[in-house]
Amino acid sequence: MKIWMNGTLIDEEQCCISVLSHGLHYGTSAFEGIRAYDSGSDVVIFRMMDHLARLRRSAAALGVPVHYSDEDLRDAITTVVRENGLRCAYIRPLISIGPGSLSLNLSSADNQPVVVIAAWDWGSYFSADQGISLITGVGRRVSSQAQLRQAKVSGAYANAYVASAAAREKGADEALLLDESGFLAEASAANIFLVKNGILMTPTCRAALAGITRDTIMTLANHLGYDVQEGDLSVKSLHEADEVFLTGTACQVTPVTNVDGRTVNGGNVGDVTRQLQCSYLTAVHSSSSFVSNVCVGTDSFRAA
Ligand code: PMP
Repeated sequence: MKIWMNGTLIDEEQCCISVLSHGLHYGTSAFEGIRAYDSGSDVVIFRMMDHLARLRRSAAALGVPVHYSDEDLRDAITTVVRENGLRCAYIRPLISIGPGSLSLNLSSADNQPVVVIAAWDWGSYFSADQGISLITGVGRRVSSQAQLRQAKVSGAYANAYVASAAAREKGADEALLLDESGFLAEASAANIFLVKNGILMTPTCRAALAGITRDTIMTLANHLGYDVQEGDLSVKSLHEADEVFLTGTACQVTPVTNVDGRTVNGGNVGDVTRQLQCSYLTAVHSSSSFVSNVCVGTDSFRAA
C-alpha cells in the first residue's frame, strides 16, 4: 500500500514514526473517514471537501497546525486512491502531534505534525449487512460539555472502542452510547435514526458527532417527503421504534433489527430504511446535478 506522508507518497513499510510520538501516547490526532465510490466512468469521493473542513476543525480543536491547504489535501487524497489502483476505497487522513516533547504542557507547534493519508478497499463495516443488533447500557458518550465533543480526535475513540467491545462480549454487534442524561447519543462510530409512524427521529448533535452521512440522510429524507425531527430520545423510544438504522461513512446506512434483545420490525429491514439506503447509495455513486441540487456536494475526479 502506498501512503502519503508529509507530502510524499511512500510504501507503507517505509512510513516510520517514533514510538515516542505525542499522538501515540495521548491520542492527540485528528482524523477523518471518507469513502470513494466507483460510478462507472468516474471515481466519486463523497463530500470530500466537507470531510476536509471537519478535519481542519478537529485539528484546530487540538491546536495542531495544518501546513497544507484543502486543495493540497484534496490532490493528495486523489493521488493516494489512484496510485493504489482503487476505485472503491475507504480513505483515512490523519493529522497528529508527532515526536518532540512528551509533555502535556507544550505548545503543539513545538512538535513536528505528522500528516498521513491512507486508502484501502473496505467493503461492509458490519458483517451482518441485513440488520445488526444494538445494545444500550454498555457505555456513555464523551460528555456534551467536553471541549472536544465535536472533534474527530483519536483519544475519544478509546471510550467508544471499550463500549463497542463490551457490546460484542454480550453478544450484540454494536453499542449504542447514551449521553450524560441517559438520552440516546450515538453508536461507537455512527449516528442513529429511529422511524416511528413514518416520522424520522435522531438525537441532536449535542452529544453526537454532526455526521456527514446523517446530514445527507436528513436532506434525502426531506426530499422524499419525510418529516425529520431532532431531539432528546429515550431508550424507551428506541425500544418502541418501528425501524432503526445507523448512519456513517464506514457503515453507510445499516439497518438495526434487534435492540437490547428485542426484534425491531419483526427482525426485518423496514421499508423506510430500505428506501433511504437506496437513495443514499444512488447519491454517493453520482456526481449528477440532482446530488448537487440537494447540496450533497459531491466531488469527483476522473480515474487515470
Ligand atoms: N459518530 C461518530 C463518533 C463517528 O466516529 C462517526 C464516523 N465519522 C459518525 C458519528 C458518523 O459520521 P460521518 O457520517 O460523518 O461518517
